[in-house]
Amino acid sequence: MVRFVTLAALSAPIQIIGQGLAGTCLAWTFFERGVPFELVDREEGGSSRVAAGLVNPITGARFEPSWRIAGFLPGAVAFYQVLEARLGGTFWHPMPVVRLAAQAKEWAKITGKLGDEAAAPWVASVIDPPPGEWTGAVELRGGGRLATRELLDASREFFRGRGLYRRAVVDPTSPAAGERVWCEGAAGLLAGRLGPHRCAKGEILTLRAIGWSEPRIFIGGGGWMVPVGCPNPKGAMKFLDIVGRAEYQAVFARLMYYAPQNPKALDLLEPAIAKLMPTYPDNEKVAHMINFDWWADNLPMMQRRFQQWLQS
Ligand SMILES: Cc1cc2nc3c(=O)[nH]c(=O)nc-3n(C[C@H](O)[C@H](O)[C@H](O)COP(=O)(O)OP(=O)(O)OC[C@H]3O[C@@H](n4cnc5c(N)ncnc54)[C@H](O)[C@@H]3O)c2cc1C
Repeated sequence: MVRFVTLAALSAPIQIIGQGLAGTCLAWTFFERGVPFELVDREEGGSSRVAAGLVNPITGARFEPSWRIAGFLPGAVAFYQVLEARLGGTFWHPMPVVRLAAQAKEWAKITGKLGDEAAAPWVASVIDPPPGEWTGAVELRGGGRLATRELLDASREFFRGRGLYRRAVVDPTSPAAGERVWCEGAAGLLAGRLGPHRCAKGEILTLRAIGWSEPRIFIGGGGWMVPVGCPNPKGAMKFLDIVGRAEYQAVFARLMYYAPQNPKALDLLEPAIAKLMPTYPDNEKVAHMINFDWWADNLPMMQRRFQQWLQS
């Protein structure tokens, strides 16, 4: 429903219910324009807090540019960059998107659209598909990841600090002091107040992949993969540099008898202590090595034997 209300006619600050992405962006727009508002959230999670934040300019099986993407994307990026400067964080992470085709028919659809006036500006190049059962791949420009949770948390603190945010569950049937804008996300849709709806339910698995430095988003076969990076790569590298130094590893080994990975640390230890370390060369020679091939073949049998032993 669309209603026009002049600022002068407001009897109370506008209440925004729901501090997901929708409520937060509206609150920022009100804030920038000097519209009085109050932001309220029940703090029980929401889609924006678990979303991958993936932005992909050309979507779906039909390989169509997203609705009005050419106009919306630059506006959205500029909006988030203003918030980055104001809140002191990085929320928008631009990244190429690799669109994979799982079947020949899908690949034919994609290649048939590559030269289209609407699609062409977003297509960087056709590339070799990665190993696996992919028929083709194309790299797109203009995509990226919005760190939604970080943006929401920083915004919440900003508004809370100015008395513009509070935690509460708002009952839709409760009387309102003034205007209300409902930004309840799926909760509102499921309640049916806005009429029929289609809610899609997805699942996200967050994995730590050590040593994997892929800088692109992958989409294909009904799933996607978004590198979320390291929140503080400079700090992480500095930490690794410090904990890997021989002198610190030696201090640690004296206190805990934990084996240093840096062999130079052994030279800094008292010889009697160094010889106790599992990484001492003589100990490494006789160390117990796990034979993964053997375990792959024998694990069920070993588990059975272990259970029998426990019960005997
Ligand atoms: C697992 C998952 C992954 C997703 N990944 C992507 C993606 O990669 N890219 C993409 O574009 N979209 C993605 N989406 C969709 C996207 O997250 C949502 O469309 C978007 O975040 C919805 O934002 P919203 O503000 O409308 O709702 P929400 O984020 O759900 O926010 C609604 C807020 O309102 C609060 N609320 C509800 N009722 C009340 C009440 N009565 N009183 C007080 N507070 C209330 C809730 O607690 C919540 O904080 C994903 C969704 C899910 C579930």
